[in-house]
Amino acid sequence: MADDVSELKAALESALAQAATPDAVEQIRVAYLGRKGHITGLLKGLGKMPPEARKAAGQRINELKSAAADALEARKLSLVDAGGSAVTIDVTAPGLLAAPGGLHPITQMMYDLDDAFAALNFEVYQGPEITSEASDFDNMNFPPDHPARESMDTYWLSGESNDARRCLRPHLTGGSVRRMLEGPPPYRFVYPGHVYRNETTDARHERAFVQYEALIVDRDVPFTAGRLLIDTILQTVFGRPVKTRMRAGFFPFVEPGYEIDMECQVCSGSGCSVCKHVGWLEVMPGGVPHPNVLRRAGLDPDEWTGFYVNVGLDRLVMMRYGIDDVRLFHSADLRFLRQFR
Ligand SMILES: [Zn+2]
Repeated sequence: MADDVSELKAALESALAQAATPDAVEQIRVAYLGRKGHITGLLKGLGKMPPEARKAAGQRINELKSAAADALEARKLSLVDAGGSAVTIDVTAPGLLAAPGGLHPITQMMYDLDDAFAALNFEVYQGPEITSEASDFDNMNFPPDHPARESMDTYWLSGESNDARRCLRPHLTGGSVRRMLEGPPPYRFVYPGHVYRNETTDARHERAFVQYEALIVDRDVPFTAGRLLIDTILQTVFGRPVKTRMRAGFFPFVEPGYEIDMECQVCSGSGCSVCKHVGWLEVMPGGVPHPNVLRRAGLDPDEWTGFYVNVGLDRLVMMRYGIDDVRLFHSADLRFLRQFR
């Protein structure tokens, strides 16, 4: 009798360990606890035992029965939890909808501009983000002692010799010479991408931001070509003509150079905190490529000329949506980003 109980217990444990599905567990339950089951059979056998042995045997068999029921239930639950059965899953219940993703507002803007310029037959050029002093300062006509080379603004990469210093590109303009060296003129291309400045962040400055540059180079580039670049950018961003003005500005890579201002779209020029109450915002530098830049690109400046504009996309997206803090763009705050889906 005692042997029967021990053997059944061991056999049950072994069977349960091998059961892979809730259905298999149910079959084991029937085999042990069903009307014709092994444990039920033992209980039925009690009547044939001598009365003095019956009480102790009955107690042992009932303990086995109770332990078996617990073990069966526990095994079944563990298999259901592991996904072994659809018994407890209502397959008719409505499913959970996956939240749709969306493009970042700056990416949307970049794609909008790419499309607008592609329609005007501009190529979209992509260059490397790790560049060099030669590419981004020498080629861009920055004098050897220009403060931008040594200022804290540029992220220089360590472990480089002085004559080939590498950096994270602080502006896109160096890439224009790289592109021009790839093939013969004329050129019409736009050049979007991240640039990096090692500076303190505040509501209007970030360490990494997206610039969008456009360049036309041809034998005879009328001033209206520059207007075309500016108007295409602003019309794409704002969906309507935007008042602009050009002031003389100095940048080493252009001659003449311009600061291009647009009317503040938040206050329509009447003055607000975004435009510091002047009604205008400086949105892009631009101008005619400096002869030295064209020479670096292998072109004769007496034969070729052109027009650059270079936009900080963050600022335009801020104007487009009335966003007052540039740091929100990189905050990864879903409450902010979900507004642009
Ligand atoms: Zn304003």
